[in-house]
Amino acid sequence: MRYTSTRDNNILLEGSQAIIQGISEDGGLFVPEEFKKIRLEDLLDMDYQELAYEILGSFFTDFSEESLRESIKNAYDRKFTHEEIAPLTQVGEMFILELFHGPTLAFKDMALSILPYLLKEAKEINAIEEEIVILTATSGDTGKAALEGFADVEGTRIVVFYPEEGVSKIQKLQMDTQEGDNTLVVGIDGNFDHAQDGVKKIFNDDSFRELLRGNNFMFSSANSINIGRLVPQIIYYFASYIELLKEGKIEDGEEINIVVPTGNFGNILAAYYGKRMGLPINKLISASNENKVISDFIQTGVYDRRRELNLTSSPSMDILISSNLERLLYHLGYKDQELEELMDDLASKGIYKIDKKELDEFYSGYSTDEEVEATIKRIFEDHDYLLDTHTAVGIDVYRKYRDETGDRTKTIVASTASPFKFGGAVAEAVGIDTENRGDFEIIEELAQKTGTPIPRGVMELEDKEIIHKNKCERDGMEEEIKRFLGLGDSDD
Ligand SMILES: *Cc1c(COP(=O)(O)O)cnc(C)c1O
Repeated sequence: MRYTSTRDNNILLEGSQAIIQGISEDGGLFVPEEFKKIRLEDLLDMDYQELAYEILGSFFTDFSEESLRESIKNAYDRKFTHEEIAPLTQVGEMFILELFHGPTLAFKDMALSILPYLLKEAKEINAIEEEIVILTATSGDTGKAALEGFADVEGTRIVVFYPEEGVSKIQKLQMDTQEGDNTLVVGIDGNFDHAQDGVKKIFNDDSFRELLRGNNFMFSSANSINIGRLVPQIIYYFASYIELLKEGKIEDGEEINIVVPTGNFGNILAAYYGKRMGLPINKLISASNENKVISDFIQTGVYDRRRELNLTSSPSMDILISSNLERLLYHLGYKDQELEELMDDLASKGIYKIDKKELDEFYSGYSTDEEVEATIKRIFEDHDYLLDTHTAVGIDVYRKYRDETGDRTKTIVASTASPFKFGGAVAEAVGIDTENRGDFEIIEELAQKTGTPIPRGVMELEDKEIIHKNKCERDGMEEEIKRFLGLGDSDD
């Protein structure tokens, strides 16, 4: 299987090369040339690891079977605290797909626990000598999951930029306490879109790339623009469908809905890829918070980022420019010049438009912070199940979908984070007084009140040393990288 750029069909790369480059030099994203159909009946007896091999093997055809199986083992055999990796729990009529049992308690672990191994192997396949510098912008969860995955991985360095004003306290602590000599964490004066934009500019800066090459470094990305992030996210959609089949909750071939709390459009795009590979999906339901740019797009066909970014209780979805939509547009038939024009319009005018009928496979809605709070409270009271703020966005939008359409198709909701990662907002929702109290005190009361155990990864943060204290302005990101890599004309 080969990969082309969304903006230039003349580019054709092997999977290993697409993973290493991260983003195409023309500014486009790498997309698979085709989707291999998967026969569900072949998957019925597989555990998560075997299923992972089926999916990854069909996309990354230039990797040896042995190396893929080794990567899968390294990623999923020990690092997850639940043996099923991504368990499915029934809550009322919904099936909640818990994607937060990895080391950093958010769904980003599902892919970032394996990406470092894929990248290491890709380096070997292509006989690359340079040290790889992973450059990442994060709205909170990608950063920590990437740091966790790449810390102390030989031949790599990892640089994470997060918005000072836009992450939860636990997220910030998780990143600032990161160990590993090859890690750099920097808070930037701005929001996630500024961080992501800055990182994209650095990727597309030819002279900076030359400077790196001259010093035996090369950039790659751990954001969901990297195809190596996206593909491992397809696995759990197949795993959950098969689980429903095996438990007799659905019939052979029965279509389901999938609800995904959406930010950069990576997780829901992975579900869409699953559909293209043969997973029986009725509606893909994309849930936004108050930054409802995607919800508006799916409802009207107009993508309009000309608005203020709101900081909400679901910070990992506080995004106005969803990178992975470019991939969806490509698969809907926008290619090369035509797609480049849309993306140029987005960059220069802040808006583009397509025919909304093309988005019929999707439904989208949004929830306010008040609705999120009410949803957490309601689900806890009715079902004794604690949601995080992002998952609550998904569940509230799903409620609206059912009210609006009357559709009773069985539905899986992707649960993207542990409630303890956003403990402050979750605690308030279930009636805990949080005023003037420490984060860990609040979390402990939350655990006690709800009978939900605190994940180890949260408790141990309390005693960890703050290692990273770097801050920078939006235009100071290159300087930070230079200093970290010991390059050129910085002040030391
Ligand atoms: C990243 C993230 C999302 C959004 O996922 P995308 O793939 O960016 O759409 C939702 N919830 C949580 C907790 C996240 O970390």
